[in-house]
Amino acid sequence: MHKSYIRRFHANEIFHRIRIEPQISQKDIVTKTGFDKSTVSSIVNRFDELGLIKRSTNAAGTKPGRPAEGLSISPNKGVLVGIQVERATLSFAISGLDGQPVLTQQQSFDGQIDKLARLVAKGIEQIKAAVDNLGDILAVGVSLPGLVADDGTLVHAPALNWHEIPILQVLGDKVPYPLFVGNDVKAAAMAEHMFGDCVDEKDFIYLFSGSGVGGALFLKGELYGGAKGLAGELGHVKVVPQGRMCSCGSYGCLSAYLSRQALALEIQQLGFKDVVEFSDILKLAAEGDMQVLGVLDRAATILGAAVANYINIFNPPLVMLGGDLARGETYFRTSLESEARRLSHQSMFDQTRIAFSKMSASKGYLGGVALALDGVTGLDGAHVLP
Ligand SMILES: [Zn+2]
Repeated sequence: MHKSYIRRFHANEIFHRIRIEPQISQKDIVTKTGFDKSTVSSIVNRFDELGLIKRSTNAAGTKPGRPAEGLSISPNKGVLVGIQVERATLSFAISGLDGQPVLTQQQSFDGQIDKLARLVAKGIEQIKAAVDNLGDILAVGVSLPGLVADDGTLVHAPALNWHEIPILQVLGDKVPYPLFVGNDVKAAAMAEHMFGDCVDEKDFIYLFSGSGVGGALFLKGELYGGAKGLAGELGHVKVVPQGRMCSCGSYGCLSAYLSRQALALEIQQLGFKDVVEFSDILKLAAEGDMQVLGVLDRAATILGAAVANYINIFNPPLVMLGGDLARGETYFRTSLESEARRLSHQSMFDQTRIAFSKMSASKGYLGGVALALDGVTGLDGAHVLP
């Protein structure tokens, strides 16, 4: 592995520890991360020079015999802006270095790529103007609904019909701040690790369903990117040979059976012509419509087969399900679990926890915040996830 890459991994982990355990000592960081003392010390010193952390000598709860110095995040060093690009909306969030949003804003978007950079730049200035006294913008993170290669190219965004856009350059031309971009689901997995239900999880498989189904492989404490940063497209595992055509251009993908559009189309064909959004589907399910419950149950069974594949390949301690999957947990859980149990290796299934994200459904913009935070604390200037 490249030296700067390892340093980035160390730096992000150390900042993560300081953020989730305010007043932690350097000694405890060494213990909890397993990194050597000189690595921790050099990175902590660098954070200090940059003003990202503060040292305090009267840490609350310090026991006798321990170093009295505690480390915490600087509350007023600056802000992060997280942006989520979707088919019809742009969401903006501004947060401190702790990653907790202090303000969110949303605007409609017509999907025109030539307008995106200008709208993003304007949105950043608007949300910044609405927040006082939190310092300058340290970084901007943009999560995108498509494949993002590690050279900063948006390879394909099916929902927007965008192909081969040099997105880092397009946005960078108009955004005068350090800028970090990545796939929305991978950014969401990173947010789960930083702020959500996967804090302290070193290995988990993440699956998110919305307008498409995306995934992320979080392995040994970081996102796995593969040869070009594109790995983890778990929504495009083939679950039905020669099955439905998928938005990715292939056939029989999980996404073609589980995405919001796929479910809505099936339910429309039952006579519910007005069903478009996942909330429409949930409403019919809550009313107990047997046909709609049947559609969700079949989708859950197909999802169970896909999850069995993830379990057999990765032996993950945790499979985290987000987005519409989390919103529909009540209707998905039973058949998903029984099918995953039936099709996976028993001993591996028994070691896997299948969980539904509490954070993902309502806080998509946290993916952008996670990208920005990872960019600032990684210390090496790489501008594309991971
Ligand atoms: Zn596909």
